[in-house]
Amino acid sequence: MLLKTFSGGIHPLQKIHHGKGLSEHLAITKPEAPKVVKLPMAQHIGAPCRPLVVAGDRVLRGQLIGETGGFVSAPVHASVSGTVLSVQPERVVGGQTPLTVTIENDFQNETVEFSPADPAALSREELLKRVAAAGIAGMGGAAFPLHVKLSPPEGTKIDYLLLNGAECEPYLTADHRMMLERGETILKGVSILQRILGAGEAIIGIEANKPDAIANLEKLSRGSGIKIQPLRVKYPQGSEKQIIQSLTGRQVPSGKLPAAVGCVVVNVSTAHAVYEAVALGKPVIDRVVTVTGEGIQSPANLELPIGTKVSHLIACCGGLKSETARLISGGPMMGIAIFSEDVPIVKGSSGILALQHGSEDPYGEGPCIHCGRCVRGCPIHLQPYELYSDMLRKDWAAAGKHGALDCVECGSCTYACPAKREVTSAIRVAKRRVQALQRK
Ligand code: SF4
Ligand code: SF4
Repeated sequence: MLLKTFSGGIHPLQKIHHGKGLSEHLAITKPEAPKVVKLPMAQHIGAPCRPLVVAGDRVLRGQLIGETGGFVSAPVHASVSGTVLSVQPERVVGGQTPLTVTIENDFQNETVEFSPADPAALSREELLKRVAAAGIAGMGGAAFPLHVKLSPPEGTKIDYLLLNGAECEPYLTADHRMMLERGETILKGVSILQRILGAGEAIIGIEANKPDAIANLEKLSRGSGIKIQPLRVKYPQGSEKQIIQSLTGRQVPSGKLPAAVGCVVVNVSTAHAVYEAVALGKPVIDRVVTVTGEGIQSPANLELPIGTKVSHLIACCGGLKSETARLISGGPMMGIAIFSEDVPIVKGSSGILALQHGSEDPYGEGPCIHCGRCVRGCPIHLQPYELYSDMLRKDWAAAGKHGALDCVECGSCTYACPAKREVTSAIRVAKRRVQALQRK
């Protein structure tokens, strides 16, 4: 079997246990919904939403509660029926405090009437309108409003719609289970996306460590024209620029979007949400999250209302083991440390990872020994050690020249570094400073 890939990158399996075995064979389950959900008005990249409810209002599941703050924005809907307890700033993963609507679940599961439609009978504009109204933001983690991605500049020809089924982060298995259990609806979503974009070809890229998902989608897609392409297991295979290179051989130039090389990349779970939005008229109110790691009693792939607190997900999995050292939202490579179990899962939450003691390095960072491993591991072909040194000198002009803005924050340089230097964290700081300077 020909396995496609990109240049650069790392092989996480060489160093850490990839962890997917903890949950990849576990079917998606739907535990009882939580007593309370917290729905931030900013769950996407772009302008935050304006809340349409106040404390005391009764809301139905699926009701619009946050209207968009501009074109680059995605509306927010109530994920349970019940009473609005508050509309106030609340802490989310990452530490920000966006305006958040908190709803007390009445467990009546009263839902607004969705309006189903036959996708084949809708025009391109009507399909796009339904995607925008459903509040779909990239479910692979980036959370970019989908209708914006599906509206490339006038005159842009999209040759390839690329579906990201790589799920290259260790431990995470939510997309894997979606491709196994909801393959048919993913493929229907792909056909809708292909129509919206007028894309010549649709290819689903899946890392070769998910042979059952590859076989399932190959079987289901027979005769549809949608191609299933196995990819070599390499990190960050699922990063946008890397999957484009792997699947088409095209390279997105620095500072440009995938549309510049005739490509649009969409996550497989996002394609499923597109089917639900267009055919069922259902907004994004639930999602599948992997709750896993050696620190979790019973790992699982759970489907729960968006806004469910991390504490509820952990409780659904039997709680944490006493040796648990830290919680991460996302995978171990790009995830963000969780400081409180009170924060909610949002549209872009793919996993909650509990790591045990022993995953930290007791000796901390050492000096750079100029071995070049971070350079070889960087999929963007940057010089990470140089950017780290720019950050230490606070030389933001140099960081800009050395390509800080092209860094995709994949974590490969930190992973590859034998001196345990926190290269990615340093570059992340430099990137923010360069962005701030450019805004000025
Ligand atoms: S410099 Fe950025 S893109 Fe390159 S390996 Fe490090 S984190 Fe990834
Ligand atoms: S991998 Fe670490 S030690 Fe090697 S050059 Fe990069 S920063 Fe320096």
